[in-house]
Amino acid sequence: MENVLFVASECTPFVKTGGLADVIGSLPQALKANEGVDVRVILPLYDEIAEKWRDQMEYHTSFEVEFGWRNQEARIYTLNYNNILYYFIANDYYFTRKGIYGYYDDGERFVFFGHAVIEALTHLEFKPHILHAHDWQAGIAVALAKISQPIEGLKTVFTIHNIKYQGIMPLTTFADFFNLPEDHIAGLEWNGMLNCLKSGLFHADKITTVSPSYAEEITNPYFSEGLHPILLERSNDIVGVLNGIDTKEYNPSIDPLIPVNYRSSRAKKRDNKILLQEKVGLPIDGKKPLYTIITRLVEQKGLHLVQAILDEFLLEDVQFVILGTGDQEFERYFAETADRYPDKLVTLLTFDEGMARQLYAGADFFVMPSKFEPCGLAQLISLQYKTVPIVRETGGLKDTVISFNEFTGEGNGFSFTNYNAHDLLAVLHYSLTTYHNPTQWATLGKNVNKSQFSWKDSARDYASLYDGLSMKYV
Ligand code: ADP
Repeated sequence: MENVLFVASECTPFVKTGGLADVIGSLPQALKANEGVDVRVILPLYDEIAEKWRDQMEYHTSFEVEFGWRNQEARIYTLNYNNILYYFIANDYYFTRKGIYGYYDDGERFVFFGHAVIEALTHLEFKPHILHAHDWQAGIAVALAKISQPIEGLKTVFTIHNIKYQGIMPLTTFADFFNLPEDHIAGLEWNGMLNCLKSGLFHADKITTVSPSYAEEITNPYFSEGLHPILLERSNDIVGVLNGIDTKEYNPSIDPLIPVNYRSSRAKKRDNKILLQEKVGLPIDGKKPLYTIITRLVEQKGLHLVQAILDEFLLEDVQFVILGTGDQEFERYFAETADRYPDKLVTLLTFDEGMARQLYAGADFFVMPSKFEPCGLAQLISLQYKTVPIVRETGGLKDTVISFNEFTGEGNGFSFTNYNAHDLLAVLHYSLTTYHNPTQWATLGKNVNKSQFSWKDSARDYASLYDGLSMKYV
C-alpha cells in the first residue's frame, strides 16, 4: 500500500476557515482505516493553532529553506492525533500572525510553504510515494515535486477544492521566489502572472476535484475562473470524487455541542429548536418552521439571491437565523435586516462551531443557494442532523441533494436550477407547504434519514487512484 503525504493549509481540529479543513481533517483517517493507506499530513504551524495542540507537539528537525535570495528557517514539529501523524512547519516570519490568510504577502508565504514541504521530504524518514496537495496554497509544492524530484518516482495528485482562489502574484517575483531556470516560467505562469493553482494543475500527475459535477463544470468558462484552457488540456487526468463527512464527528446522537442528542426523533429535534429560540432571542414556538444559513458571507454562497427575496419571504410565518462572517456588504445587510424583523430574523456575525452545531440541530431547513459549489459540506452536515437542505443545482449540491417530489415521494431536500432569486423564493414557499403537510413532511423526513455521506466510498476512489499511479509509473 502507498505512503501518501497530504499537503494543505488548514485542517480540523487544529485550524479551520472552511470545508477544506474538514476534508483534510477526516479523509486521511478514512483512507487509513478503510484502505490501509499510510497517510500523513503536512501543514503550516500558525500562531492561530491553540496552545492545547502545541503543547502536545514534538520537535522533530529543522533546516534552511533557500528560495530566491532568501534563507528561511523551517522547524518541523510532529503530532499524533486520531492515529494520523501530522507534520507542522514552523517559521517565525511567515506563520506567526493573527488569523491564517489575508496578508499582502500571502503568495510569498505559501511559496515558502511549498519550498519547505519539498525540502522536508529529504529530512523526514517517511518517504511518500504520492504527494497529494490541496488547493492553491499547496500548488507550488506540486510544481517543485515534479521539477526537482526530491524522491525517486514520487507522483503527485492535486485536488481543487475551490478554483476561485488561485494565489496570483506578479511574475516579476519569479526570480525572487525560485532558483529555477527561466524555462520553468511557462508551467507556473498564467496570463502574465505567477499562479499557484495553475502551477499545481500543470505539474500534477492526476487532478481531482470534490464532486463529479464540479469536475465537469470547471472545464466550462462560466465556472473555470479563466483556467478552462489548461483544464481542457488535462481533461483525461481529471477525476471528480465526492467529499464525505466525518460521521463520528458530525453525529447528533453523541454531539456534545448540542443540548439534546437525537438520532432521528423529530420531537427531540424540536427540543433543540426551542432551546435555540431561547438562546438567540426568537419567540419560542416549536411548531414554527426555522430556516438557517451557516456560511462564509461571500458572493459564491448565493447571498445576492437571498438578499433579493428575504423581505418577501419574511412575510410568511417563519423564523430565520443566519450565522456567518465575511464581506462587509453582506454583514451589514443581514444585520440591518435582522433589526427590522426582531421576531423573525437573527443574524450572528461570528465564526462559532458550537452555535453552528446548535443551528444544524435546531433548524428545520438549511438554505444554500450557491452560485457555484465545488462540493459543499454544509448541506451534508445538515442532512446528518436531519435538517432539510434547500440548494441550487450546481456542483456537489447537485450530486447530493435531490429535490422532493410530492407525487413520487422521492427526494431529500429542495432545489432549483437557475441562478434566479424568484426561483429560490418559489422553492422556499414549496418547502413551507411541505412542512405544513404532515404526510409529505414525514416522507421527506424518511428520505433525509436515509441520506448517507460518509467517507467510505470516496476513500475507495482515492485509493484506486493512488494504486493506478503507482502501477503506471513506478
Ligand atoms: P466552504 O468550504 O466554501 O466555506 P463548505 O460548505 O464546504 O463551504 O464548508 C463550510 C464549513 O464551515 C461547514 O463545516 C460550516 O458548518 C462551517 N462554517 C461556515 N461558516 C461558519 C460560521 N460562521 N461558524 C461556524 N462554522 C461555520
